[in-house]
Amino acid sequence: MPLVFFGRKMTKIYNFCAGPAMLPVAVMQKAQAEFLDWQSMGRSVMEISHRSKEYIALAETAEQDLKDLLCVPDNYKILFAQGGGRGQFSAVPMNLHGNGDTVDFLMSGSWSEGALKEASKFLKTNVVGDIVMQDGLSTVSSITAAQIDQKSAYFHYCSNETIEGIEINDIPDCGDVPLVVDMSSNILSKPIDVSKFGVIYAGAQKNIGPSGLSVVIVRDDLLDFAMPETPTFLHYQTMANYNSMYNTPPTYSWYLAGLVFKWLKEQGGVEGIAEKNAEKAALLYKCIDESDFYLNKVHPDFRSKMNPTFHLPNTDLDAVFVKESEKAGLTALKGHRSIGGMRASIYNAMPIEGVNALTEFMQNFARKYK
Ligand SMILES: *Cc1c(COP(=O)(O)O)cnc(C)c1O
Repeated sequence: MPLVFFGRKMTKIYNFCAGPAMLPVAVMQKAQAEFLDWQSMGRSVMEISHRSKEYIALAETAEQDLKDLLCVPDNYKILFAQGGGRGQFSAVPMNLHGNGDTVDFLMSGSWSEGALKEASKFLKTNVVGDIVMQDGLSTVSSITAAQIDQKSAYFHYCSNETIEGIEINDIPDCGDVPLVVDMSSNILSKPIDVSKFGVIYAGAQKNIGPSGLSVVIVRDDLLDFAMPETPTFLHYQTMANYNSMYNTPPTYSWYLAGLVFKWLKEQGGVEGIAEKNAEKAALLYKCIDESDFYLNKVHPDFRSKMNPTFHLPNTDLDAVFVKESEKAGLTALKGHRSIGGMRASIYNAMPIEGVNALTEFMQNFARKYK
């Protein structure tokens, strides 16, 4: 049945895009309602100075809300940076350059590889763990401090490999070496102990807001190791000194991120959303496991709650699945080209109704094409 959705007439759709991903409907509606006139100023929030007291209040509130949500300790700085996840692939090695000559990496998938490739321009890199197959299913090596060169500048891993659908729940133990994590695709999806990390970074377009923005949470004793050539706008200490406003920040993205943080608080914070995420992922994996049609190739301990992947019995059916699911209002389910199959990204903003609609479609599709 056609209905009005986001002010457009269309059949209701559920968007499973890996990123930029769907944002909460309530957030989009609020943004729409105040698009032309923010806080009765007769202007959009994107048309005012980032130095105005109104915008600074918005920025501070967003930062405080994020701090509350993740229980960020006081000895950490929160930076609102530009350049997404990959911007930090470069910023991290430049900013931690003086802390050692090498970086240790856990290679759990494509995004770890991307981060390593960029870091290797600045520091020697060393792979200390990778994907290990167990009965045909992917697992990831567990890391202990003994495997890490204690003189390394930092140890890097990716807590959720968005492309492969692999999530690492246990925080690696790297001893006294700063732990750096790319949390782009599972930040704010569950509680985390920030105090275990030296740097947490995340591109915004999965669980925070629009693309381009990234959030960096950095322990303050790590602000002094930047190489002199570090571009000033990527320099953590400078960004911290200027409250992330050394250069003009992506003001509209920051505003939307702030709305997402408020929405998340209304969902019971990260504890509340974690329960919903667990329920959504369990429904989808149950549908996969109970069928003799769909196959997920990740070990249950490492299955992503954000980006479940699955394969059909033969690849000829892939295009049919994509076409029919699109027609049913379930969009962007095609898996990453490097992996094939399907991927259903079910970040915080995906309602359980979307997962129910997907599993119902999957069951019907399996019956039809078995
Ligand atoms: C999406 C993603 C990135 C890349 O983000 P960009 O904003 O495109 O640079 C990096 N790491 C992970 C884990 C991601 O999911």
